[in-house]
Amino acid sequence: MSTFQELGLNDDLLRAITDLGFTKPSEVQEKAIPILLESETDLVALAQTGTGKTAAFGFPMLEKIDVDSRTTQGLILSPTRELCLQITNEMKQYGKYCKGLNVVAIYGGSSITDQAREVKRGAQIIVATPGRMKDMISRRLVDISKIQYSVLDEADEMLNMGFKEDITDILSHTPDDKNTWLFSATMPREVATIAKKFMHNPQEITVGNKNESTNQVSHEYYLVNARDRYQALKRLSDANPDIFSVVFCRTKRDTQKVAEQLIEDGYSAGALHGDLSQNQRDLVMTSFRKKQIQTLVATDVAARGIDVDNITHVINYQLPDEPEIYTHRSGRTGRAGKTGISMVIVSKSEVRKIKSIERIIKKQFEKKDIPDGADICEVQLMSLANKIHNTEVNHEIDKHLSSINELFEDTDKDELIKKFFSVEFTRFYNYYNKSKNLNVAEGSFDRDGGREGGRDFGGSKNSTRYFINVGGKDGFDWMKLKDFLKEQLNLGRDDVFKVETKDSFSFFNTENELKEKVLAHFTDFKHEGRFVNVEVSENRGGGGRRDRRSGGKRDGKSGGRRSDRKGGSGNRSDRRRSEGNSSSSRRSENKSSDFGSSRPRRSRR
Ligand code: AMP
Repeated sequence: MSTFQELGLNDDLLRAITDLGFTKPSEVQEKAIPILLESETDLVALAQTGTGKTAAFGFPMLEKIDVDSRTTQGLILSPTRELCLQITNEMKQYGKYCKGLNVVAIYGGSSITDQAREVKRGAQIIVATPGRMKDMISRRLVDISKIQYSVLDEADEMLNMGFKEDITDILSHTPDDKNTWLFSATMPREVATIAKKFMHNPQEITVGNKNESTNQVSHEYYLVNARDRYQALKRLSDANPDIFSVVFCRTKRDTQKVAEQLIEDGYSAGALHGDLSQNQRDLVMTSFRKKQIQTLVATDVAARGIDVDNITHVINYQLPDEPEIYTHRSGRTGRAGKTGISMVIVSKSEVRKIKSIERIIKKQFEKKDIPDGADICEVQLMSLANKIHNTEVNHEIDKHLSSINELFEDTDKDELIKKFFSVEFTRFYNYYNKSKNLNVAEGSFDRDGGREGGRDFGGSKNSTRYFINVGGKDGFDWMKLKDFLKEQLNLGRDDVFKVETKDSFSFFNTENELKEKVLAHFTDFKHEGRFVNVEVSENRGGGGRRDRRSGGKRDGKSGGRRSDRKGGSGNRSDRRRSEGNSSSSRRSENKSSDFGSSRPRRSRR
């Protein structure tokens, strides 16, 4: 293992390194720095976030640029504003003794004029997100025609985010003979193509194995019914009282929903996704960094580049579409030499994805059980006991001690301890007492195409079962119908379940909270020239019989039912539906939904 001196860095940089407290180079630094210092070369480096890669390209760039010149010589492209700001910060710290150095960050969501002004003052290094950079080039607010060094940081992420064209456009404004240094955690085909297109005989270094996730992270999966996902998330959090976690969801909608529900249930959580304003995102990130928020619920895009150390758990609330993205998610924990746990909550339909992720990360997942209520109560109790044991006494209490002692005169020590702990513990106990087992056996099978285990087939108290007047005759099997409904209603993968198709009609379920949306969408709805009618089914037993309904007219003249609906006075389902429009009924539906069932608020949260 070499030292920073041995890597050949100059004194200004070495002083900054000492200030920063870096004692020895990380693997990527040890491999990249000598190559970049000694030769004018292109480089492809496969390295995760958290491995010290910013310094791996940052030190050589700082060493090579001419700080006496005001010309922009280095350009670093990064996928997100957060990462862009982090890199800028790091570069400023690394170059704090390089007199005359000016590093400028260019990113969206902030004043373009201010950024242009900073560039004009003479920025030797620009750190930019592709969108804003392209914008500034087209407005002639930056000149990158004399760039000597360009860095594509987190190249796989940039391509995932659809920045390929922007990058191509930006690089077309830079000289051909510049050096390009590409850093990427994974090497999908698109990144290899970019490397081939823009680089000349790049040297290649790999930290760890290609596409391998960090060694400090262990991977676990929990198999549950899709509908129990949220309950599972809560249990995993409760079973780890000191958790500091990022929970990944696939959509902005789910991200917001999960975060809101966690907050309502008394957890310290926050949402991070693209529908929030930059200001809101900044606030959430600041709270998370300061650990005022224990759980950050995020989309993949918004969470990119998050550089927060000490994240104990990454929880995959849903798996990403692309297995490669899992590497990025799990890389948020196990940083800076710490260990971390990446947990995946999967339903049966997703469990096969675990295998493809294992191939990519070259590590095995451990299948674990969602802890039961008794386990969680024990963990919480012991955590509380430890906390009390480690609490420093506040002597302000001393003056009240005699009154308190008086109150407990007849209470012995054991009794006092029990009473004291019950204050917090009873809420947990009441919540988890008699709670159900959420685990699904790997081999179990149910009738929703064998996808989910063990749920009853009709509308449970948390979900609504619907009748729809299309079926096999219309070319729908359960999968096609599920896809059709998801597409029509713009719903997520697990939002429509228990789809059962008959010849001329079918049934399906959604959570209660989607009822209004479903019924509203299929009011006067035509598909391929015929009316498609959806009604709440009273069939709770799972058979193919529709209660008191005529079925499946195929000529578009199911108008009798439709006019019933409009009149609002029809059968029970219609009455229920109109009741469902009142806000109080909506509230009570939400309350009873599985997703919304809350647990006792904890004083600490
Ligand atoms: P990065 O992979 O560039 O995001 O770096 C992750 C974190 O490691 C940052 O907070 C850096 O300041 C820190 N870091 C980088 N290099 C070293 C080093 N050689 N020793 C200790 N910490 C480092």
